Amino acid sequence: MTSKLAINGGPKAVSADDSEIFRWPIVTPEDEEAVLAVLRRGAMSGLDVTHAFEGDLKQYFGLDYALCHNTGTAAIQAAMWACGVGVGDEVISQSLTYWGTSLQVFSLGGTVVFSEVIPKTLTMDPADIEHRITERTKAIIPVHYCAYPTDMDPIMEIAEKHNLKVIEDVSHAQGGLYKGRLLGTIGHIGAMSIMSGKSLACGEGGFLVTADQELYERAVAFGHYSRTRDLESPELSPLAGMPLGGYKYRMHQLSSAVGRSQLKHYPERMAEIQRAMNHFWDLLDGVPGVVAHRPPQDSGSTMGGWYAAKGLYAPEELGGLPVARFCEAVTAECGQFKIMPGANPLMHLHPVLNDADVYGHGKPTRIANSNRDLRQPAGSLPVTEGLPGRIYSIPWFKHFDAEIIGQYATAFRKVAEHAEELQ
Ligand SMILES: *Cc1c(COP(=O)(O)O)cnc(C)c1O
Repeated sequence: MTSKLAINGGPKAVSADDSEIFRWPIVTPEDEEAVLAVLRRGAMSGLDVTHAFEGDLKQYFGLDYALCHNTGTAAIQAAMWACGVGVGDEVISQSLTYWGTSLQVFSLGGTVVFSEVIPKTLTMDPADIEHRITERTKAIIPVHYCAYPTDMDPIMEIAEKHNLKVIEDVSHAQGGLYKGRLLGTIGHIGAMSIMSGKSLACGEGGFLVTADQELYERAVAFGHYSRTRDLESPELSPLAGMPLGGYKYRMHQLSSAVGRSQLKHYPERMAEIQRAMNHFWDLLDGVPGVVAHRPPQDSGSTMGGWYAAKGLYAPEELGGLPVARFCEAVTAECGQFKIMPGANPLMHLHPVLNDADVYGHGKPTRIANSNRDLRQPAGSLPVTEGLPGRIYSIPWFKHFDAEIIGQYATAFRKVAEHAEELQ
C-alpha cells in the first residue's frame, strides 16, 4: 500500500532539493554586464539599445516591424488604437485572463465583449465569437492563455469575413507554436508583456510585432513622440512631434538590454522547460481527476515557455472532491511550489467591468459610449464561469531533473489515488 497522504500526517512525496528548479528568470553575468554597460554610458533613456532589441525581435519573429513599449499593457493599448479602436467601438476577448488583455480599451473610449473559452484549452472558442460581432466591433483579441495556443485559423477566417483586425496577446506564450507557426505572427499584430514573471522576461516591458507598415506607424504615432519624424504615412507625418495618445511608451533601456540577452538564450531555455513539463504530464497520464493542459503531441502546436502552467481538474472522477481541497492536499506533499486552485479572476464579473464610472460619464465606463447595455452579468458565460473549479496551478519547472519532476508527479498521483481519504 502507498504511504498515506502528507496532509494526514504521512511522509511528503517531494523530498529532493527543489530550490533551483523554479527560479526565474535565469540571470547570468551576461545580463549583468549588459545592464552595467547601459548604466555606465548613462544611456538609460536613449533608443540605441531598444532599436537593437527591436532588430533582434524582427529577426526572431520573421516580421518587418517591432516596437518596444514600457509595458505589455501599453503595447496592447497601442495595438488597439492602431487597429482603429476608438469611442464606442468594441473588441471581443475572453474573460478568463489577466486584465491587461483588454481593460485598457476603456481609455480609448471603447469597450470589451467577452466570448466563451474552450474548457480543455482555456482559450477563445471560435464558435462563440461571430454572434457577438456588431457594426461597432473593430478587433478580436485572443490570448494564448497560460501558454496554450489559441485556435487561430477559424478566428482569422471570421476576422477576414467581417473585416476585423486580430491582436494576439502573446504575454503567456512567447516562442510557442500554432500548427508550426510562431504565436504573434498569425494575427495582424502580436503584442505581449515581457515583465519579469513572464517566460521571456526583461523587467518591466512589452512590445508589438507586425508585418503591416500602417499598423506599425500608427502604434509609433500613438506613444512614441520621439520617433514620429520617421513616419511615412501622409496622415500621420503632419502630426509628428507629439504622441497622439498623449502617452510616452518608450522602453527603459535597462529593460532593452536585459531583453536582448534573455532573448538570445530563450530558445534553449524554452526547450528545456518544454522537455521538463512534457515529462511531468507524461508521468501523470491516466491518473484520475488530473488532465493535461497541452496540445496533442502531433499537432505542431507547442506551449512556449509554459507560463503559469496549469492543469485541468475533473472532480467527477474523484468523488466530487473540490479543487481547493485537492490543491491543499497536493501542496502538503510538495516542496517549495504551492499548488493553487483556479486562475485569474473572471473579468466579466468584476465591478470595474460592471459598475465603475472611471471617467465621470455618469454611467459605468463599460457602457459609457455604447448603444446598448452589453454588460455580461453572472450566468451569461456559463462555460467560463464553470472553469475556476476545474483549474489548478502545476509546478512550473525551468530545468529537466527527472528526480524532482518524478516526485512532484508522485504528489499529484498520490492525492488522486487516495482522494477518498479527503472526503
Ligand atoms: C502580463 C500580462 C499583460 C500585461 O503586461 P504588463 O507588462 O504587465 O503590462 C497582458 N496580458 C496578459 C495575458 C498578461 O499576462
